[in-house]
Amino acid sequence: MTGTVYKSTGSWYTVKSEAGDFVECRIKGKFRMKGIKSTNPIAVGDLVDFDLDETTDEVIGQIHTIHDRKNYIVRKSVNLSKQTHIIASNIDVVFLIVTIHNPVTTTSFIDRFLVTAEAYGIEAVLLFNKIDTFTKEIEDEQLYLQYIYSQIGYQCLRVSAATGKGIAELKEVMKDKVCMFSGHSGVGKSTLVNALEPGLNLKTKEISDSHSQGQHTTTFAEMFDLSFGAKIIDTPGIRGFGVVDMEKQEIGDYFPEFFALKDQCKFNNCLHKEEPHCAVKKALEEDEIAWSRYNSYLKILEGDEETYRNDIYDA
Ligand code: GDP
Ligand code: ZN
Repeated sequence: MTGTVYKSTGSWYTVKSEAGDFVECRIKGKFRMKGIKSTNPIAVGDLVDFDLDETTDEVIGQIHTIHDRKNYIVRKSVNLSKQTHIIASNIDVVFLIVTIHNPVTTTSFIDRFLVTAEAYGIEAVLLFNKIDTFTKEIEDEQLYLQYIYSQIGYQCLRVSAATGKGIAELKEVMKDKVCMFSGHSGVGKSTLVNALEPGLNLKTKEISDSHSQGQHTTTFAEMFDLSFGAKIIDTPGIRGFGVVDMEKQEIGDYFPEFFALKDQCKFNNCLHKEEPHCAVKKALEEDEIAWSRYNSYLKILEGDEETYRNDIYDA
């Protein structure tokens, strides 16, 4: 039988079969990990094959095969061992909830997030929330950002989790997809999830709010089915979404509008800084690339570990 992993608690995995039944599974003894080395062989979102255990009356299964992952996000432990833990896999779309004010979401934060999503190979959508609070000035700012990001190819949606405006359109985008939500604390994630599916309380908030340094709570990602046909992966204790180690050389590739021009730069290893005949710099001077995007790029390029290692900590 084939199914999707909805939850894992270390040794047990809750798998939803194609028929729609939830089966508690263990991993078969000689299971071989595919791809990367991680502390967990199987993660939420994985598509797996399993057999029902015939030796017991209980409905339990044994996972024997994992299908190739389309993508996955990881967390690295902060201690010396730097072990990799796969948080979740096979994510169709990640929504970054953006508020212009209260709290402010900076373009540099948005761009670092988008770079990480590109590096992971996950589609990202910008979700501008709290549109009910917009003054003319704030709306202009929001529309300007929307203009920049839609030009590059990122889908942008405008919602108000408080009034419900735009929620129907959001549901359309989410339908039949495995979704994740991210964004600064206070942007309205909990309110939004509640507007999408009243009664569904994701744990993310409580855990990140009660988080204190040095406190070691083990938390696990979990997938939820929503009534309108979407799935949400909740990642308690994880702010932002992941760690990606990038070479300086590849950072520009994760800015799609830079990547599109790369072949026109004189040097094929152009970092788009001081090099002569750089197509990115030229486009920038001709206002075809936003300065805010270029500045974010420089920050990531010149940044320290903290900038590279995009917003994640061990819960
Ligand atoms: P979270 O930290 O991202 O989960 O944010 P919350 O959902 O707790 O929201 C933070 C605050 O913003 C709360 O006071 C919400 O009532 C408020 N809020 C969330 N969405 C909206 C919105 O669309 N409009 C307005 N006016 N307030 C909102
Ligand atoms: Zn260049």
